[in-house]
Amino acid sequence: MRLILLGPPGAGKGTQAQRLVEKHGIVQLSTGDMLRAAAKAGTPIGLRAKDIMARGELVPDEVVVTIVSDRVDEADARNGFILDGFPRTVPQAVALDRMLKEKGLKLDAVIDLKVDLSILQERIESRIADAKARGGPLRSDDDPEILKKRIEAYRTQNPALVDYYQRLDTLKSVDGMAPIPEVASAIDRALGATGL
Ligand code: ADP
Repeated sequence: MRLILLGPPGAGKGTQAQRLVEKHGIVQLSTGDMLRAAAKAGTPIGLRAKDIMARGELVPDEVVVTIVSDRVDEADARNGFILDGFPRTVPQAVALDRMLKEKGLKLDAVIDLKVDLSILQERIESRIADAKARGGPLRSDDDPEILKKRIEAYRTQNPALVDYYQRLDTLKSVDGMAPIPEVASAIDRALGATGL
C-alpha cells in the first residue's frame, strides 16, 4: 500500500502514520525526519537543509525529491510506504508522480487531514511546553514564531496540492479534529472505500 498523508504541522500525521505502519506492515517516510537525520549526520543535503528548517521555510523541491526517491528504493519500502510531509508543493507532487511511474509503482490513496488552523498554534505550543517541562527533546523549529511560518507555508501551498489530488481522484478528506481513535477509524473507512 502506498499512501500520502497531507495535513498541517500538528495535525497528528505522525500518530496516524505510526498506526498505519503497524497495521499494514509498511514504512513511514517522513521528509522532516529524513532531513533532520541528514542534518545531524552532516551530509551535504543535511547541511543545506539545516538552516532552512530552523527558519521554518521549505527546503528546495529537488532536495526533498532526491531523498524521497532514494528512500523509496530501499528494501524495507518494497511492501509499501506512507509519505508524511511530502509532497508539500505541486511541483513536488508532479515530481512524485513521475518518480513512481519510473519505478513502476502506483499511489493508492491521498489522505487529507483537515484541521482548524486557528487551534494549531495553541496545540503545538502546548506540545512544546510539555516537552520542555519533561526535559524532552525539542526541535530547532519548535518555537512559536517559527511555528507561525510553518503554518503559513502550509496555508500557502496546501490548497493547490489538494486541488491537484482532487483532480486525480485520489483524495480522501478526513476530519483531523476528532479524538485520535476516531480519526484512525475515519482513515480506515476512507481506505476501505478505495478497496484497500
Ligand atoms: P511539520 O510538519 O511539523 O512542520 P516536518 O517534520 O514535516 O514538520 O518538517 C520540518 C521542516 O522540514 C519543514 O518546516 C521544512 O523546512 C522541511 N521539510 C520537510 N518536508 C519538506 C518538503 N516536502 N519540502 C520542503 N521542505 C520540507
